Amino acid sequence: MDAADCEKKRMKSEVLLFVGEALGNYGFPDGHPFSVDRQGAFWNEALTQGLDKRVTLAAPRLASREELLRFHDEKHVDWVEMRSRVGSGYLDYGDTPAFRGVLEAASAVTGSALEGLHRIMAGEAQRTFQPIGGMHHARRGRAAGFCVFNDLGGVIDTLRTQYGIRRVAYVDIDVHHGDGVFYSYESDADLVFADLHEDGRFLYPGTGFAEETGTGGAEGTKLNIPLAPGAGDKEFFAAWERVLSHLRRYQPEFVLLQAGADSLAGDPLAHLALSPAAHAHATKTLVGLAEETARGRLMVFGGGGYDLGNLASAWTQVLTELVRS
Ligand SMILES: [Zn+2]
Repeated sequence: MDAADCEKKRMKSEVLLFVGEALGNYGFPDGHPFSVDRQGAFWNEALTQGLDKRVTLAAPRLASREELLRFHDEKHVDWVEMRSRVGSGYLDYGDTPAFRGVLEAASAVTGSALEGLHRIMAGEAQRTFQPIGGMHHARRGRAAGFCVFNDLGGVIDTLRTQYGIRRVAYVDIDVHHGDGVFYSYESDADLVFADLHEDGRFLYPGTGFAEETGTGGAEGTKLNIPLAPGAGDKEFFAAWERVLSHLRRYQPEFVLLQAGADSLAGDPLAHLALSPAAHAHATKTLVGLAEETARGRLMVFGGGGYDLGNLASAWTQVLTELVRS
């Protein structure tokens, strides 16, 4: 191996980790479960494990209005701007409170995701992890379920419009169904979707049934696997095999994972009973899949998770798998 190859190999193994104050500010006041403590809980554990030395730290940045409008309607961005100035009330029907500066905090989530995407596409890194990210309930026209702007949709639409990459895999192991992504691309045959979540009959947002497989020409490109309350690693590992074969069938060119830690046992908002081994396994196998079909390009987002100990263990396991390869 000559010097150029060594350099190439070093570059290829680089993982960008997006943490910083602008992202840490994404959290809601007054005892809300999506608190501002979540990034810090992960980061303290990552430091304890020495993971900071195995990644390239990347600073958050805010998305421009133009970047927000790649996925969102103008009226939604205007609404968030207005509520951010007022600093009270809700951005939706009662789950997602407004606060002063919510526009900037939510713009940091999308902006950092787009920065990660650009740096992967520029060849500076192969994989990214952004713990405060993965806002999978936000729709093009509205906030929902603690999600103001949908950073995932921003990445998908930017891949299409700026980079000409259409065949994108979106994988979601958050306990809640990724409805904001699913319904935005339900009839899009190039968005390969796989989502394991607690059965919508028992949990918000009440969607993601097995028969929801995509519409029109996209039928079959979407895989929803609802798990019964109480399901654990055994059920997850069995279902995960279906996820992998589904993804392989469509040979994605780019892979996204929303690794919500609220699917772990003991989450205060939900009822699955996974261990961090599930998150590690999902990440490890998606690193492999991305190597097979997507030139290694994989972006991982923290998503939900409302027990600070749980999210710290799940996300450090995710990051460990990302830096291992
Ligand atoms: Zn969730």
